[in-house]
Amino acid sequence: MATNSDDAISAARSGNVDLIIVSLSLQDTDGLRLCSHLRSMDESRQIPILILVDDTPDQMERLVRGLDLGVNDYLIRPVDQNELMARCRTQLRRKSYEDRLRTNYHLSMTLAVTDPLTGLYNRRYLESHLENLLQRAVMDDKPVGLLAMDIDHFKLVNDTHGHAVGDEVLKEFSTRIKRCVRFIDLAARTGGEEFVVIMPDSSLDTCMGVAERLREAIAEAAVKIPDQDLEIPITVSIGVSISRGAGDTMANLMKRGDEALYAAKNSGRNKVVSDEDEAPVATAM
Ligand code: GH3
Ligand code: MG
Ligand code: MG
Repeated sequence: MATNSDDAISAARSGNVDLIIVSLSLQDTDGLRLCSHLRSMDESRQIPILILVDDTPDQMERLVRGLDLGVNDYLIRPVDQNELMARCRTQLRRKSYEDRLRTNYHLSMTLAVTDPLTGLYNRRYLESHLENLLQRAVMDDKPVGLLAMDIDHFKLVNDTHGHAVGDEVLKEFSTRIKRCVRFIDLAARTGGEEFVVIMPDSSLDTCMGVAERLREAIAEAAVKIPDQDLEIPITVSIGVSISRGAGDTMANLMKRGDEALYAAKNSGRNKVVSDEDEAPVATAM
């Protein structure tokens, strides 16, 4: 039990509190101000508050203000023990229900936008985000870059070491991507071993620099699978495309990225090619 506001606030901050009971007839503490403070803090915003009031006109007025502040329930003194228990139980049940709803909501939001294996964004999120970014880029007259990536000969990794090891390689690949891109860039897994990075407000030179850094980060060290004492060297081919202002579409930007990627594959893999490079020489893969 806390006997002053500071103690009550630090207890609420601890994250271990499910219900707060505040007396409005505290000697040295303004109970209403405490309630208002608890409602304004992120850590305690969702914790139910029950207030205890005396049956006086002054306290009744304060009770109304308390309810306006978001206090959940109240009891008038003298407090009946059973009544107090029943009210507490109701508030605790409601809180646990709401906590569960919130957790499920966050979980389904996360699942809706991310790929469960790698934690990167999924294709659906990428496409909705890219559409907005392109519109904003046209208004600000700034380009958006796209890196289309595909791991080279990935089927061989699966065929040689099995699908589970393949999955570990995909995870490590994703970690290296995250390490190479800026906070504002968006990295997504768009297919099995296919990834896209969107780079807002970036010139072709910047994007080519990042793509080259990424290519090196993948090629320079084999992926370690400690459980099986394996080291698997991999490489990636990257196609880079840059938005071309009003009239350019998400579909076209992605298509140019894919074509540049295809050219990178055709020119030997482990390469970066942009949509402004010379038309690739078609060779058999
Ligand atoms: P290329 O250099 O031309 O890209 O050759 P590749 O072998 O990477 O290309 P291909 O498209 O033939 O093979 C892709 C492989 O990716 C086939 C599939 O078994 C594997 N794959 C797709 N999704 C997953 C996944 O979620 N986990 C694992 N382990 N493998 C996957
Ligand atoms: Mg592929
Ligand atoms: Mg591949």
